[in-house]
Amino acid sequence: MEFNQFEVDALMYITNRPPIVFVEGDGMYLTDHNGKRYLDYLQGWAVNCLGHAPQCISDALAAQSKKLLNPSPAFYNAPSMRLAALLTANSCFDRVFFANSGAEANEGAIKLARKYGRIHKNAAGGKRFEIITFDHSFHGRTLATMSASGKPGWDTMYAPQVDGFPKAELNDIASVERLITERTIGVMLEPVQGEGGVIPATREFMQALRALTKKHGILMMVDEVQSGMGRCGTLFAHQLAGVEPDIMTLGKGIGGGVPLAALLCREEIACFEPGDQGGTYNGNPLMTAVGVAVMEALTAPGFLQEVVDKGAYLRSQLLMLCERHGLAGERGEGLLRALKLGHDIGPKIVEAARDLAPIGLLLNSPRPDLLRFMPALTVTTAEIDQMIGMLSDVLRTLGH
Ligand SMILES: *Cc1c(COP(=O)(O)O)cnc(C)c1O
Repeated sequence: MEFNQFEVDALMYITNRPPIVFVEGDGMYLTDHNGKRYLDYLQGWAVNCLGHAPQCISDALAAQSKKLLNPSPAFYNAPSMRLAALLTANSCFDRVFFANSGAEANEGAIKLARKYGRIHKNAAGGKRFEIITFDHSFHGRTLATMSASGKPGWDTMYAPQVDGFPKAELNDIASVERLITERTIGVMLEPVQGEGGVIPATREFMQALRALTKKHGILMMVDEVQSGMGRCGTLFAHQLAGVEPDIMTLGKGIGGGVPLAALLCREEIACFEPGDQGGTYNGNPLMTAVGVAVMEALTAPGFLQEVVDKGAYLRSQLLMLCERHGLAGERGEGLLRALKLGHDIGPKIVEAARDLAPIGLLLNSPRPDLLRFMPALTVTTAEIDQMIGMLSDVLRTLGH
């Protein structure tokens, strides 16, 4: 295959991409247009929880595509009902609304909380609509979810934007309490901040937040688009703290690579009425059939324990790298981990790792002094050793 500049220029320019085209994927490996292979620790941005092109997903897609693509969201379809039931049976939630992206699921969560706050007014009889979110958080790229995100400037970049998301500091419960007013309806957080640099909320903070939100009669909303679906070693990351939130959103891993997301809530919160929420593709059988295959894989006996074990192994190997190369440390949960470099060499490492030959290594640097690892949950210890060896070579080549 040729690298075609005319075709490249037909794409809207939104980010800098390396001049390679990926044509094939298999498990932890990608192959580019020159036939070069890469060990992939991005996995479509923590999306391919079962690796590239897993058999169960291609089987689900093939079978469902021959049966029924989309009867319209105005009718029931079997895969969406089955997936919803699998999700409620394996969580503290009772109701599911399917979406097509994490941002759309979070938009739905924001709408649901605001509707709930319109019904359940404050003591003065006023609407409650503010949702407290956190510095460095990431909730998506729609106008509302950009405002909800804690990236500096994201609430005004496309002004006038959606108002009502005061920012607290993660793992500082007093910073949350200070922001609670008669307008507050919820607190939304990532149990592990992914894009912010793999920063886990502590167990104590999650528990204190659950107690605080209960005390004030406001909703605890977890954005598990990145941390959910087994990524952190439990099906959902909030389970690590033993808390039961009111609202949860899922994305990324739930589709194993296809566009699928979900909004879940407990029965007493499910206050949407006909006309409040919907979408042409939402809950379509082609994507939800894939979701069923993913849920069945993740809930198979022993699967999550292996994620825990491989997460612990990855952690031990990253700590070994720290010692060998004088790096600053590591953090994370399960198979969502970060290496703290201590210097702003992340982008250089990403490039040098990609250029390794004959096999390249794909890594992500969410901040200049940090590398993030989001392998397939099916990664093997041999593939962890291979990555550590390659990364060690790159660090040595760069003089560390
Ligand atoms: C990726 C991500 C989103 C946005 O998901 P999209 O599918 O890209 O819209 C939202 N929240 C978190 C925590 C994410 O990691």
